[in-house]
Parts: sequence; structure tokens; C-alpha cells
Amino acid sequence: MNVSEEFGSLVFDDRAMKAMLPAKAYQSLRRTIDEGARLDLGVANAVAAAMRDWAVARGATHYTHWFQPLTGITAEKHDSFIAPSPDGGVIMEFSGTELVKGEPDASSFPSGGLRATFEARGYTAWDPTSYAFIKGSTLCIPTAFCSYTGDALDKKTPLLRSMEALNRQALRILRLFGNDEVKRVITSVGPEQEYFLVTEEMYERRPDLRFTGRTLFGTKPPKGQQLDDHYFGVIKPRVAAFMADLNEELWKLGILAKTEHNEVAPAQHELAPIYSTTNIATDHNQLTMEIMQRVASRHGLVCLLHEKPFEGVNGSGKHNNWSIGTDTGQNLLAPGDTPSENAQFLLFLCAVIKAVDDYQDLLRLSVATAGNDHRLGANEAPPAVISMFLGDELAAIMHAIEADTPYEGMERRKMKLGVDVLPLFNCDTTDRNRTSPFAFTGNKFEFRMLGSSNSIACANIMLNSAVAESLRIYADRLEGAQDFEAALHEMIRKTIKDHARIVFNGNGYDDAWIDEAVNERGLHNLRTTPDCMPRLLDEKNVTMLTSHGVFTLAEMESRTEIMLENYCNSIEIEAATMIGMAHAEIIPAVEAYLREVAETAAAKRAVAPNASVECEVGLVERLSSLVDRMFVAVGELEEAVSHLDETADVTERSERIRDEVLPAMEALRAPADEAEAITAKGFWPFPTYGDLLFGVR
Ligand code: ADP
Ligand code: MG
Repeated sequence: MNVSEEFGSLVFDDRAMKAMLPAKAYQSLRRTIDEGARLDLGVANAVAAAMRDWAVARGATHYTHWFQPLTGITAEKHDSFIAPSPDGGVIMEFSGTELVKGEPDASSFPSGGLRATFEARGYTAWDPTSYAFIKGSTLCIPTAFCSYTGDALDKKTPLLRSMEALNRQALRILRLFGNDEVKRVITSVGPEQEYFLVTEEMYERRPDLRFTGRTLFGTKPPKGQQLDDHYFGVIKPRVAAFMADLNEELWKLGILAKTEHNEVAPAQHELAPIYSTTNIATDHNQLTMEIMQRVASRHGLVCLLHEKPFEGVNGSGKHNNWSIGTDTGQNLLAPGDTPSENAQFLLFLCAVIKAVDDYQDLLRLSVATAGNDHRLGANEAPPAVISMFLGDELAAIMHAIEADTPYEGMERRKMKLGVDVLPLFNCDTTDRNRTSPFAFTGNKFEFRMLGSSNSIACANIMLNSAVAESLRIYADRLEGAQDFEAALHEMIRKTIKDHARIVFNGNGYDDAWIDEAVNERGLHNLRTTPDCMPRLLDEKNVTMLTSHGVFTLAEMESRTEIMLENYCNSIEIEAATMIGMAHAEIIPAVEAYLREVAETAAAKRAVAPNASVECEVGLVERLSSLVDRMFVAVGELEEAVSHLDETADVTERSERIRDEVLPAMEALRAPADEAEAITAKGFWPFPTYGDLLFGVR
């Protein structure tokens, strides 16, 4: 593949627009994309015609409004371009109206009560800021998905609103610093995506993987990740072929896939793109996950995006590298060269510190899923407690400002904003703490709590909104200040002082830290989805998010309900799968082996009456007792599940699942895993962890 020629070849990007559109239509579309100007129908018609010609020339026969409902995956409904022509043939048609607005039947998407089922209509609206692209033979048009009452039923709409909120407040701050050139402030993200690859043949033989995306049974293999030989290790040929193929597919779609390497666990890998605006990065990450799965199947592999496919083995996350920049190319989270730039940098840094402390709960719940609950706090991913890592140098600078004491790097002068230039500090040394949930890495923040299957939209909606709120408070104060510099200095000092508790530079995996965080610093430790999700509706959160126009109260209520429903549904499916596997496969397999062992003992005695049957007797005793334990545990799990119907309230149901169903699942798993360890391999009905994790050559 000639990369520079093929890059973006399946995207109706700026190059394609310029080539295909009349100059006037192109300019008005550009104004819509860059400045959010309204697009009139004449231009929409011209764009639709150009898109259609471009797509048909590349083999497309259908178009779809591509959107991100609250299921967390993307949805599409295909319509063909064909329209009958008078001569009995067909012509390829696509109008401006069809481009701008679609009406998928919304009744089967979750709405959390927002849309009564008799009013099952929703509409999709074109998002011109994210380019259309071709997938297979379909032109995909990125769209937002709303109900007829205007409520958002998707993840893109609030994300766009949050970007707008941050833009609005950040511009106020920049104007205060005398910056009149910047027209837009933009948040950017580079998400690092982790995943596992297993062979399709083995995957097919595991009902748990097929139905739930994770294994619900399985003893750990003798070799796990103790040797650290996989991380950054040589990539196996089959995996390398997959990665090469994946890169080509992504590049054609204009996705800047950049780095790839093995991760900590066997069979675990990572892909990181070059960062782009939060909106496009979100679309691209959704596409990346989808294409990973498709390309894997071409290679006889299955890509597992679940947060915890294997118990006892590191799970998969997604690192959300986030920064704030201007349309003039300045990164507002990078220290500058002049005193004024540095004061501005410190202000934006403080805005993030304040945001993370004030809205810890929102950040935590933005990554909450049943799958991610297994990772957070399990000494492989950040704890469920949110804290921030700034690095020693920046922490020392902050400390000097707070205490009004000299900072060493400043030749023993007092730190005074607007007078002194910050010492240049080395960005590379700031990020060696891998245990922090939220780390400053020189010119961006890395939010590390996201699960591998999460849409990054949710985390960025909360991050953008919370920072917009800090900036709003700052701008309100500074705009009314008599002495700008004094007010700025005081505000930064106050932020550092008030929010010192959220800054932690130590080891986030340490139990002592959790104790200190909760008991001394008063930070939240929201361990599970039912613990954190209902907090979305806390008054302070509703006030903040509605005041910036990111969500309406109804949208927040519906989201809380949907996220809790998702949690309940995934665990209920897991429980049902476990019950089925235990009854239909595991118990019968152990019984079959048991009988074989018993028959062996009898056969031995028949030939040699004095032969020792110690081994057979021991095995029969152990296996019988394990089978009995399993039988009891399955019954108890069934019982726990049946009680769920006693409650119609989703919050209560999720709590019961956490407190009764999950422990019953663990109680069933334990004897099954013990039995696996002493059952002859030929009798075991599923590929083992060893087979799965070391099966791809
Ligand atoms: P590491 O594994 O050390 O965290 P990677 O290179 O794997 O680093 O990922 C870093 C990610 O951060 C990449 O996606 C990169 O494009 C992104 N990134 C770099 N600079 C910025 C920035 N200013 N804003 C947002 N993301 C950024
Ligand atoms: Mg990283």
C-alpha cells in the first residue's frame, strides 16, 4: 500500500470536498465546519450530490446515518441510493434533505423513558464537523441522534455541547489575557486502545466468551505475566499480519493509527492513534473498535474488547490523553516562554485541578460499566479513587506559589505570577507514574480509568464540562477585578490550597493510599457502578451540567437509568450463561471423568485384587465434593437471579446484583475452577486459559 496516496481515500475529507464541490458551496460548507454557521438547503443539496458521485465512484450503493446510541456501540440503517427512472431503470439519488436529516425507527434504542414507545420517532442530524466515509459499499454519514422533543438519545450530541461550553468559557479567559486572535478553543484526545486476540476456533468453543465477551470460568495458566516478556516483546507473525491489515483499513478511513505494541498480559496488545479533536477522536475510536473486530475475523482471530476477559490476568483499558488548544495552534496546557503565557498556563492547569476535585464523581461514573468494575482498584489499573499526578517539579512550583516561598529553580526569588517566567521543566520526567488515574504528562492530561470498551464520549463530556465550569468561575471573578494580576495570583493560590487534596504523586495501587484518600482527604471511593451512577443526579451535578447546556435534567435521568440497566443486563446475561455452562457442560464433564476414575479403580481391582487405588479414591472423593459444591452453588445463583424480579426499581436491582448475584457467581466459579485443575484435559469441555492466552502463534 502506498500510504500517502491511500490515506483517507475512503473519506469525504477536505481534499474530496474541494475537488467535488462548486467553489461557493465549498466555502459555505467550510464555514459550517469551522465556525458552526448554518447550512442552507441549496448548499446541502450540492454537498449531497457531490458526496453521492464521490461515493458511487468508489463502489458505494447505499448510504446510512451513522450514530452512537446509548448502547455504547454504533448504529446504522442502510438505504440504497437507487430511485426508479421513467425508462424502467434506476438512477442514483441522494438529496440535501436526506443528507441533513434521517428518521431511523428509534423504538428499539434505549431512551430511559425519554421517548414514550408510542412516540417512537427519533431523528438523526448530520454532524458536518466529522467527515463522511465509506465502509464496505455504504456511505456513512456521522450524525447526532435526538428525539422529536429535541432530547439527545446519543453520545455525540452532549459531547458537541460540552466542547462548545468549554470553547465559550475559555475564550472569555483568553480575552482577559489580551488574546483577540483566537476564534475557537478546541479539546483534543488521543485514546490508547488495549485489546486481546484469541483464535476464532477456541472462541467458538467458549459460550462465556461468545455471550458475554469474558470468561466466567477458568483456572490460571502456570505462566502468566510474571516474566514480563510480552510487554513490548516481539510481535508474533499472525498478530503482525493482523496489525498490518488493520493499519491499512484505518488509514484508508483517515484514522491516524500510529503506534502498536504488545501489552502486559499474554495475547494483549495496544493501538494508539495521533490525537484529534474530541468529537472526531470519538468517532474514530468507535470505528477503530469495530474495524479491529472485523479485521481479526479475516485472520481467524477474535478481538476481545472486554475490560476483563480473564480473571487473574491484566485487563484492558483505554487511556484518554486530553488537552486544550486554540485554532491558532497553541496548546493551553503547555508552559509558555513568557510570563503572561505562563500565568495563563497555570490558570488552565488550575482549572483542570479544580474540575477534577469538584467533579470526581462525574469522572468516575463516566467510565462505569459492569466490565470496568473488575479492573478499577484491582492493582492493574488505577483505583476507583480519583486523584491527580502532577510530577515532582510542577508540584514543587505549585507548592511555592501556594506558600509564597521561593522556588529553587527561580534563583530563590519569590514566585509571582506575571513577573517571573516559570523555569523550563522537562516534560519527559513528568510521566513515570503509571498508577495515577489522572496524570499530567507535560502538555496534556492522561485519564487512565476508561475501560477498553467504553465510548470515550462520556469521559470527555464530563471533563470538558467540569473544566468549562472552573473557567466560568474564574472568568466571572477576573472580569470584575480591579487589579487583574493580583486577582489572578490570588485565585491560583486559592485553587492550589483548596484542592491540594486531589493531588497525589505516590503509588495509587497502595492500600495505604486508599485509606489516606478516603479517611484523611475525604475523596470519593465509588467502587462499583451502582455506587457511582446515581450520583449523576446529585444537585451540584445537575446544576453544573444543565447550566452549561450540556444535558437537560430529563436527559440526565434517562442516562442514569440506561447505564444502570446496561449494568443489570450484562450481569444477568453472565449469570444465565454460568448457570447454563455449569448444568449442561461442566457438571456432566466432571461426572464423566469421575466415573472413568471409579471404573479404573474397579478394573484395577478386578485384575489385581490387592492393587492400590489410593489415587482413584482420592480423586473420586475430591471431585464428588466439588460437584456437590457446584450443584449447591448453581442453585443459589438461580435463587439470587429469581429474586431480582421482586424489584422494579433499577437502582435497587443493580444493588441486588452487586450484593447477591455477583457473590453467587464467584461462589459457583470457585469449585468449577478447582475441578478444572484436577480433571483430565480430554474431559474438559472448553479451551483453557493456557490455550486461549498462548494459542495465537
Ligand atoms: P504513552 O504510552 O507513553 O502514554 P503513546 O504514544 O502510546 O504514549 O500515546 C500518547 C497519546 O497521546 C497519543 O495518542 C498521542 O497522539 C496523544 N497526544 C500527544 N499530544 C497530545 C495532545 N497535546 N493532546 C491530546 N493528545 C495528545
Ligand atoms: Mg499512555
